[in-house]
Amino acid sequence: MLWQLLRKRFDGFGIGGALEKESLGTICGWVAEELPDDKPRHLLGISEPEDLFSAIEQGMDTFDCVNPSRTARNGRVYTADGWYNVDTLPSKRSLTPLEDDCDCLTCTHHTRAYLHHLARSKELLFYTLMTIHNERFHVRLVDHIRQSIEIGQFDSFRAEFLGRYRKP
Ligand SMILES: [Zn+2]
Repeated sequence: MLWQLLRKRFDGFGIGGALEKESLGTICGWVAEELPDDKPRHLLGISEPEDLFSAIEQGMDTFDCVNPSRTARNGRVYTADGWYNVDTLPSKRSLTPLEDDCDCLTCTHHTRAYLHHLARSKELLFYTLMTIHNERFHVRLVDHIRQSIEIGQFDSFRAEFLGRYRKP
């Protein structure tokens, strides 16, 4: 069936389906081996940092996923140190941004305490501000991954990033 798709001369290829997390890299590698090198490969439905590294390593180029915005609406904040939930007690009186070195609109204008208040008040602005941060986190991550590839430092950047990201 794949050879039939390859004969159609698409501008790129979308890859999706119910991929098991443990097999993601292997499956992406199998698919990438069959696809032409000069066509973009778009992988649907992944966004966790470790999954992005695995898929990129196997030749995937672009991604989309509802997870960053969906989890944002539930209070999950992605950071370089892992994720936390802003709707918990440690954020209630915190005057720091969601993530210290983030350049997003949310982090440059609002504190964790304000986001905590918005969450508890069920203000609609909460969902927007949280989504802005999580989307920016993921865009910054893939920007950094791209830069690491350009300078031949993908493996060391992955080890450094995931080593920090997995900290409790
Ligand atoms: Zn931010």
